[in-house]
Amino acid sequence: MILPNSTIGVFGSGQLGRMFAIEARKMGYRVHTFSPASDTPTGQVADFETSANYEDLEAVEKFARSVDVVTFEFENVPSATVETAAQFVAVHPQGAILHTTQNRLREKTFLAENGFPVAPFRHIKTLDDLYHSVAEIGTPAVLKTAGFGYDGKGQVKIKAVGEIEPAFENLKGNEAVLEAFIEFEKEVSVVAARDVRGNFTHYGVIENAHENHILDISFAPAIVSEKVFAEAVEIAHSVAENFGYVGTLCVEFFLTKDEKLLINELAPRPHNSGHLTFDACVTSQFEQQLRAVCGLPLGSTEFYAPSAMVNLLGDVWNAGEPNWERALENPSLKLHLYGKAEPRIGRKMGHLTALAKTAEKAVEIVKNVRQNLAAR
Ligand code: AMP
Repeated sequence: MILPNSTIGVFGSGQLGRMFAIEARKMGYRVHTFSPASDTPTGQVADFETSANYEDLEAVEKFARSVDVVTFEFENVPSATVETAAQFVAVHPQGAILHTTQNRLREKTFLAENGFPVAPFRHIKTLDDLYHSVAEIGTPAVLKTAGFGYDGKGQVKIKAVGEIEPAFENLKGNEAVLEAFIEFEKEVSVVAARDVRGNFTHYGVIENAHENHILDISFAPAIVSEKVFAEAVEIAHSVAENFGYVGTLCVEFFLTKDEKLLINELAPRPHNSGHLTFDACVTSQFEQQLRAVCGLPLGSTEFYAPSAMVNLLGDVWNAGEPNWERALENPSLKLHLYGKAEPRIGRKMGHLTALAKTAEKAVEIVKNVRQNLAAR
């Protein structure tokens, strides 16, 4: 067991690491973040910040020797980096899980081979593969680069055969996955945690809406049938078991009109859709990650009330500094900002959370407040 006052190493330095560090420091742990950047969202609240490239294995070794356990807030860390760290210190979740989940093709293959429901997909290496696969899967379909994609980056929708060649060109030689486009009813996620002993906890089903492929709003509890709820949680549990997972995990799903769940993506870390647990639950997804990787008992995932979260993207700054005073006039609203100096379009700068009698009401509050933020 890794006790308070120990140092937790975190690969990555964004907002997920920042919220993790806040929780870890609340419980008396020290935090050391490793990423190529400096003065980062995580670094600003961590005890130590190493700014080095992930490929700098000497720096990785030094980092790994200086901490008591390593975890991630960013899964696209090269395998060699994780393997190097693992020679000196325990790493959770394991490098092999990261290796699977950082590549869409490996992830979907793992899921399909283990009997999990996913949208029909094909591996694309050549233009010929793409022609054949579009013929098999039909249109519309979505072409996604296999590696290093998030928030819709590297995705193209193919609506007709004429769009195949430009879509292939767009890959610039990268391997890809072609997926059937799913006319989903809604998108939901299950944020869960598993510890070394196999104990499992979850936050039920969270409902998500995306704008331009980026998560816009999440609320809990999701509006789904009991059957869907039970199935989604069961799938998340099986995924975690299958991996021998230790830490916080998110399973993102499409829910079809006939109530079928398909896994869209796994996140081997706390997830944007679980940010609302920070304010709405007895134990947040970040504290749960800390407890799991330190070998502490997992905490209660009970919700104080239904809740909703909206992301604040750089776009909110278009007309200048948002009107924070106005936002905070609502005394029950929680404002989270990630300490990023430069607001860019589409960049996640912060989020708002509200608790209310119903999730619907909470959604209304966060949406209204966000709208008023840009009002002069
Ligand atoms: P991803 O980066 O793959 O999670 O995709 C981001 C978002 O794009 C998803 O949350 C969906 O809203 C949309 N999307 C991705 N793949 C599909 C698909 N096969 N069918 C329908 N929508 C999709």
